Amino acid sequence: MAHANVTIHNKEFRPYLSANQLDEAVDGLAARLSADYAGRRPLFVVVLTGGFMFASDLLKRYRGECEIVFIRVASYEGTGSTGVVQEVLGLREEVQGRHIILVEDIVDTGTTMHHLLPTLQSKGPASVEIATLFFKPESLRHELSIRYVAKEIPNDFVVGYGLDYDGLGRNLPDVYVAV
Ligand code: 5GP
Repeated sequence: MAHANVTIHNKEFRPYLSANQLDEAVDGLAARLSADYAGRRPLFVVVLTGGFMFASDLLKRYRGECEIVFIRVASYEGTGSTGVVQEVLGLREEVQGRHIILVEDIVDTGTTMHHLLPTLQSKGPASVEIATLFFKPESLRHELSIRYVAKEIPNDFVVGYGLDYDGLGRNLPDVYVAV
């Protein structure tokens, strides 16, 4: 366990979850996914950038055949009638008829997933589920069903293990919370 606080961009963070605690949470999720998707050869769709470290650890522990792709989500304002337009970058794989598991770092307000799910669903997958490292239930503003959560956390800002604070901190093996 890292005991010391860290300072990122002059902001102080205290230790919140150790690499060992994260390992345990990720282990449990990988076991559930391996059991639930046995024989189904899912397509894991990892949302960059924050999901990279979680996805790496999760998928090392996934038992069974699977495919893995990485996407980026770009949001921009559309015309008045379309509102926020969500563009999915990097998804070249055939989605139709596939079992999709979206791998996210954190579901906070749920806005990202709320926009991404219909985009994927329009491509005719057999199923779509969300697997997230962190979920902040108190912040959720959209109706979302999130089947795979490694850890529920309060409505605090966390950094480390893939998650950044203004570009820094993603490489930290432990997770810290703003003081
Ligand atoms: P949502 O669309 O669910 O509100 O949040 C999506 C994105 O906000 C996440 O993928 C993540 O990049 C960012 N985010 C939300 N909460 C946190 C947090 O506590 N720490 C960091 N580093 N990013 C967060």
